[in-house]
Amino acid sequence: MTKDSSYVSHEEKEVHWHNLSEAEVFKRLNSDVEWGLSSQEVKQRLERDGPNVITGQARIPAWRRLLLQFHNPLIYILLVATIVTSFLGEYIDAGVILLVVLINALIGFAQESKAEQAIHSLKKMLSSNSTVMRDGKKQWVPTTDLVCGDVVLFASGDKVPADTRLYRCRDLQVDESTLTGESVAVEKQRGELDSAAVLADRSNMVFAGTLVTYGTAQGMVVATGDQTQTGKIARMIAQATQLETPLTRKIHAFSRLLLWVILALAGLTFFIGLGYGLPASETFMAAVALAVAAIPEGLPAVVTITLAIGVRRMAKRNAIIRKLSAVETLGSTNVICSDKTGTLTENQMTVQRLYAASQSVEVTGSGYAPQGELQGRWEDNGALEHVLRAGLLNNDSRLLEKEERWLVEGDPTEGALITCALKAGLEISHCQQHYQRLDTIPFESDRQYMATLHHFDEKRNIIYLKGSIEQISRRCCQQLTEDGRLTAFNLEQLNEQVTQWASQGLRVLAFAMQWVDKEEQNLQRFNQQETERQLVFIGLQAMIDPPRAEAIHAVTTCQQAGVKVKMITGDHALTAQAIASEIGIISDPNSRFGPVLTGQQLSELDKEQLKFACQEVSIFARVAPEQKLQLVTALQAHQWVVAMTGDGVNDAPALKQADIGIAMGISGTEVAKEASDMVLTDDNFSSIEAAVEEGRNVFDNLTKFITWILPTNLGQGLVIMVAIVFGLTLPILPVQALWLNMTTAVFLGLMLAFEPKEAGLMQRQPRELKEPILNREIISRIISVSSLLLLGAFGLFQWSVVQGASLEESRSIAVTLFVVVQSFFLLNCRRLNGSILTVPLHTNPWIVVGLLAMMGAQLAFLYLPMMNQLFHSAPISIAYWGVMIIYGGIVMVLVEIEKMLWRKYKYQRQ
Ligand code: ADP
Ligand code: MG
Repeated sequence: MTKDSSYVSHEEKEVHWHNLSEAEVFKRLNSDVEWGLSSQEVKQRLERDGPNVITGQARIPAWRRLLLQFHNPLIYILLVATIVTSFLGEYIDAGVILLVVLINALIGFAQESKAEQAIHSLKKMLSSNSTVMRDGKKQWVPTTDLVCGDVVLFASGDKVPADTRLYRCRDLQVDESTLTGESVAVEKQRGELDSAAVLADRSNMVFAGTLVTYGTAQGMVVATGDQTQTGKIARMIAQATQLETPLTRKIHAFSRLLLWVILALAGLTFFIGLGYGLPASETFMAAVALAVAAIPEGLPAVVTITLAIGVRRMAKRNAIIRKLSAVETLGSTNVICSDKTGTLTENQMTVQRLYAASQSVEVTGSGYAPQGELQGRWEDNGALEHVLRAGLLNNDSRLLEKEERWLVEGDPTEGALITCALKAGLEISHCQQHYQRLDTIPFESDRQYMATLHHFDEKRNIIYLKGSIEQISRRCCQQLTEDGRLTAFNLEQLNEQVTQWASQGLRVLAFAMQWVDKEEQNLQRFNQQETERQLVFIGLQAMIDPPRAEAIHAVTTCQQAGVKVKMITGDHALTAQAIASEIGIISDPNSRFGPVLTGQQLSELDKEQLKFACQEVSIFARVAPEQKLQLVTALQAHQWVVAMTGDGVNDAPALKQADIGIAMGISGTEVAKEASDMVLTDDNFSSIEAAVEEGRNVFDNLTKFITWILPTNLGQGLVIMVAIVFGLTLPILPVQALWLNMTTAVFLGLMLAFEPKEAGLMQRQPRELKEPILNREIISRIISVSSLLLLGAFGLFQWSVVQGASLEESRSIAVTLFVVVQSFFLLNCRRLNGSILTVPLHTNPWIVVGLLAMMGAQLAFLYLPMMNQLFHSAPISIAYWGVMIIYGGIVMVLVEIEKMLWRKYKYQRQ
């Protein structure tokens, strides 16, 4: 039967990779299962197919985002006003309003794009890598460089970088919810499938963007970038940048409410004006003036910008924000649950003690450099030789020497074991060749051990195990003596040794072995029989992992700031306690639960007990990752805002549940990063403290800005209302109100977003999440400053009218009074309760820049003929300047006195 040619070509494009035999896949992709592609070939394919990125849906196009700026009730009012004004023949007014609306939209657009870009570019900093086989070597390459035919190695925690056909699988489970919506992880295995199998049933393939939650696998890339299934459905994995947060939502709600109130007032104004018998056109303009004057247009944009500035500051201090809402939550953090290893400690492991066949040996040297030696007579200790060899072979990491520095590629714990073996004179390549590895059970935090199967001699294979003392000792029934004999396992003696070392803060790793038949070719059976005591205990290696100096400092800072710090670790209870006390993390001494709780003890508590336990105890050891979720929930039951760190796959639920999930940028898996709100680029606890500090500062600055901006609007609104209610001439015209709001928000108010953090920032208690931004003190300040603005502007306006100034000049005076007073008040607002005498100007140069810019703009408004024409303004005489500046100064002093009274009041109440 001849096939329709178009049908054939369609078939060729849409290869059903799951339906082919493995050999066919390899042939079509022209790649080698073991060796992978050559780097030359990769380069060519990369040129041919392009980088492995999903373009996905374009973001909202610029023109639409610009148009969206006009989607705003105030703009609608203004547009209506423009139309009405032009009907009234006031073409200049109409033009100015239109221009201002346009400029306003452009500024809003530019600021929002910048904020979005800032956050977007941070996401790029979090690029991911994949493990591939190329040129016959295992390599760690950026996922963007993957091509069809690449051999990829998967481990739990990885994000699948491209569509891949699997040909080696061990217990692989993948979370495909991004693709299929199914949140339960699916199991994968090799095999050939029916070509009709739907996406969710293609169990011999993994797809780009999905997450490996368990097991290991190896496969060959069949599609990259937009050719992947995810690319085709164009459902972007990296969602559009979210600029919305609980706070901005609240502010939007507040603005909307305000809008209706003001519109009602404006309507009322209109009828009052009509009541006075004023012409409809004039009362209409008065109503528009009120609406324009009283609505804080600048508010939402500045809030977003302030958050974005916070994001940037946090990034500089190694905390990358993934969700903007974290910025505000950080400021309210009550408790930080931190991993020990690598976050509070250096993750610079060095083996210092060995133990085998009742002999303990000291090891000298520091870091990963294999310089140092084992002390004493150890060469004849056969058990020790096994311990060293097991450390070297039961190991997936490598040491690298770069510019005279020794580094670990992989797990630092394992790096230390290699260094120790080298110090003892073992040779890596010889060992690895001679005792060829046949199978592996990789280390997982909840299993707490790793097992490997090796060739030993003609007759036997050997299994080496390393892991936590608890998990190893419960599997042992015998132990190895110095001369290679087996004796009964002496758990008591062993525990004595472990207790001694762990109390010194050493991380103790236990080793065991088992001879097996040559036929034994995999560890599956071992995995199932794990409860049987059949292993031979061989010894211990104990390593130091000193606390980070910065972490000690940061923990103290947090504690002063009312933020509790809890250590959660998989390590031994005594080790955890020793390190915690070095760092300054101490449980409540009166706690009935003791200084440390282990995962075992935790699992025996009921819900109520758990709630108190996690309040009183600060050190949690041998915790399984699943228990982190319980801890977060228990802490949240106290209404605390909980930050929790994590790096592994199993940490993901806890990271999601926490108010701020923090993933490790270096050691963290993709799964953990995906679940997090924030990623630490240096894995360092002190970066969390820094982020909390920045978060508090963001909130401070937002509050300062709001305290500053609301009087501008309220004051103007009052001026206009009073004029209308008493049937007086309008002191401020709509275009002038527009001018005032726009220039002061951009030149003055915005500068508060750059205010550096206050000295006592980390000595305060955390801010309650539910606490309103506008507390009584701030509301009273807003009202008093608004009243002073009303008094000044209205008084000066009327006075100048009496003095015979033209209406244009009098109005210009009223507008300028707002500018002058708000400039002085800006200085007040640099501190909410503290005296401004404590903040020299140079600590925020932007304030000076803003003040100068504002002055320049206002001079143009007053003295440029063109501006006079546009805004109905006029030059004002110098005497008025003098009065206004004195008045501004008085307002500033009054506000400072008010602050002082509040300080006294609060002091007395304490
Ligand atoms: P943490 O990172 O908090 O120290 P882990 O879950 O990494 O906790 O480790 C828990 C325990 O598992 C360690 O105390 C150690 O005994 C053991 N362990 C850690 N890393 C390895 C490894 N690579 N291989 C075998 N056992 C390990
Ligand atoms: Mg660890």
